[in-house]
Amino acid sequence: MTERTLRPLAGRTALVTGSTSGIGLGIATALAQAGANIVLNGFGDVSEAVAAIECLGVEVMYQGADMTRPDEIANMMGEAASTLGPIDILVNNAGIQFVANVDEFPVEKWDEIIAINLSSSFHTMRLGIPVMRERGWGRVINIASVHGFVGSVGKSAYVAAKHGIIGLTKVAALENAHAGVTVNAICPGFVLTPLVQRQVDALAQREALTQSEAQARLLVGKQPSGQFVRPEQIGRTAVFLCSDAATEMRGSTIQIDGGWTAQ
Ligand code: NAD
Repeated sequence: MTERTLRPLAGRTALVTGSTSGIGLGIATALAQAGANIVLNGFGDVSEAVAAIECLGVEVMYQGADMTRPDEIANMMGEAASTLGPIDILVNNAGIQFVANVDEFPVEKWDEIIAINLSSSFHTMRLGIPVMRERGWGRVINIASVHGFVGSVGKSAYVAAKHGIIGLTKVAALENAHAGVTVNAICPGFVLTPLVQRQVDALAQREALTQSEAQARLLVGKQPSGQFVRPEQIGRTAVFLCSDAATEMRGSTIQIDGGWTAQ
């Protein structure tokens, strides 16, 4: 087998926002396994994430831009390109959650969720896509959610942002339909990351449940498989979207949700 078969993304640079944990780290790992150099971003202790990517034999850098800040996003895009080369693969993954009914939803939380889960992708795309177009190849992968298609009680800002990112994905895909740049969205159901663990903990506390009872309660009625999706499954789908087989996938939405949206 040739190097190109084993590491099809060798020589490419991938930026994954919010990649210090959860799904973002799963995607960064899968892209690195396929040979891409990686720009990590996100908060918290980054040393473990950097080490996990480094040991896959690719180049890695960390840039801690806050996705609520357009100026910091612009700096990140510039620094990433000057350190690892132009960004070929952009994964808009950073996201947060907050649960409260509309009439009790804190205004600042609404603004923060829209900024991170939706507007940050506009900023990375408006800066990243022209460079990809000039170079004749690029992949934008937006991590949306089942909540890009359906609602859930208490998740107004999240659901609004995720419906928005699917619209943004379609428009950017159409605007680049004649270019070598594709823009698609992956729409996961429940994945047991820190974002969902907080919802499990809240449910366990509220209803005096064990962890496994709370996990099962969260999934029931939503995710027919009764299983959480795993970050590496989303990572491998991202690698597929970067392959030649996916060249004519433009503005697509791929649900990986244990059957949630099939109901
Ligand atoms: P997570 O909490 O494990 O990871 C979120 C990442 O975003 C972290 O690296 C965090 O540091 C980063 N982040 C948060 N605020 C940031 C900011 N202001 N600037 C930069 N980085 C910031 O969550 P996750 O579950 O892995 O979620 C990742 C994405 O997947 C989100 O967009 C989320 O909406 C989406 N998603 C998650 C699930 C799920 O069940 N976990 C389902 C569907 C979609």
